[in-house]
Amino acid sequence: MSAVIHIDPEAIHPVIDGLWHRTRSGGIPEPGEPLLMLCGTQGVAVFDVLAKRRERGVPHQCPRCEAIYRRQHGIAPSPVRRS
Ligand SMILES: [Zn+2]
Repeated sequence: MSAVIHIDPEAIHPVIDGLWHRTRSGGIPEPGEPLLMLCGTQGVAVFDVLAKRRERGVPHQCPRCEAIYRRQHGIAPSPVRRS
């Protein structure tokens, strides 16, 4: 008997080297499935509990994924960040 766990694909933001990205596929990947991000970065799907997301510091949004996502959804570009 299946015990279905429902996941919102819009909430899937894979973290690679401290940056969170948006995926191109938009579905729910299988563990080990190759993933292509909006920005072109590639990775392999690994699942973990949300509490571990910040173990190595708070992930930042990938600026290239953000720019592409905003352009695709008609959202104005984010203001220039000053450091
Ligand atoms: Zn990205």
